[in-house]
Amino acid sequence: LLSLHDVWVEYGDKIVLERVSLDIAARSFVSVVGPSGAGKSTFLRLILGQEAPTRGEVLLDGKPLRRECDADRGVVFQRYSVFPHLTALQNVMFGRECEQAPVTGRLFGSRRRAAIAEAEAMLEAVGLEHSRHVYPAQMSGGMQQRLAIAQALIKHPRILLLDEPFGALDPGIRLDMHALVTRLWRERGLTIVMVTHDIREAFKLSTRVLAFDKRRHDPHAPHRFGSTATYDVPLDRKADDAA
Ligand code: ATP
Ligand code: MG
Repeated sequence: LLSLHDVWVEYGDKIVLERVSLDIAARSFVSVVGPSGAGKSTFLRLILGQEAPTRGEVLLDGKPLRRECDADRGVVFQRYSVFPHLTALQNVMFGRECEQAPVTGRLFGSRRRAAIAEAEAMLEAVGLEHSRHVYPAQMSGGMQQRLAIAQALIKHPRILLLDEPFGALDPGIRLDMHALVTRLWRERGLTIVMVTHDIREAFKLSTRVLAFDKRRHDPHAPHRFGSTATYDVPLDRKADDAA
């Protein structure tokens, strides 16, 4: 589904990702772990198309990744993924928009009603069917993340990118979120790439764990490069396994 070939990301003379070559299979659940500054979020931005590699290429279905209005990828961050001035339903509707052109504002009549019904179904899928007119400020952190997931999935993306999605949540709520994400992953045939600081979470949820290492500058051996993904652990878990 996704392929990175010898991808480098550099800011000035700072190398953030080096020599990343890997394939991400459809319907896999890949977790990315590693120390702060290792380039995990940069890796997600690459897949999102928000960042162009300095060298190498990122391919989606064998073609260079396009950025704009691509319905193929949805993204959820640790926080601030949803808009405080919009209700839950409006937030999910906003997930249909793309930067270039307003979508929902041009829908009228039955097409508008269908879009709203679809957004309501999405809220139900994440367990927020009773909160459609509630604003994020009135929601718990877990509910806000559920909403962010609904917003990310409304366009039926094939790939869901999660950047520390549960990092700010209490342990009990995290377990609920694990169940939700596992269910959505299986039911919707999603490919998930999730950044997490929690290694147990990574091994519990994923089919594969990538561990990014921070580059160690070695002035004595500038020609020696390691690969950014130091460990690449395939796990036995499959999307079809019993939950
Ligand atoms: P964290 O766990 O703290 O979120 P991370 O693994 O997600 O860390 P990144 O956000 O990908 O790390 O950043 C990797 C490195 O790239 C950091 O050292 C960061 O300072 C640097 N970096 C990221 N974006 C830019 C930028 N636009 N310009 C310069 N440096 C940047
Ligand atoms: Mg990050």
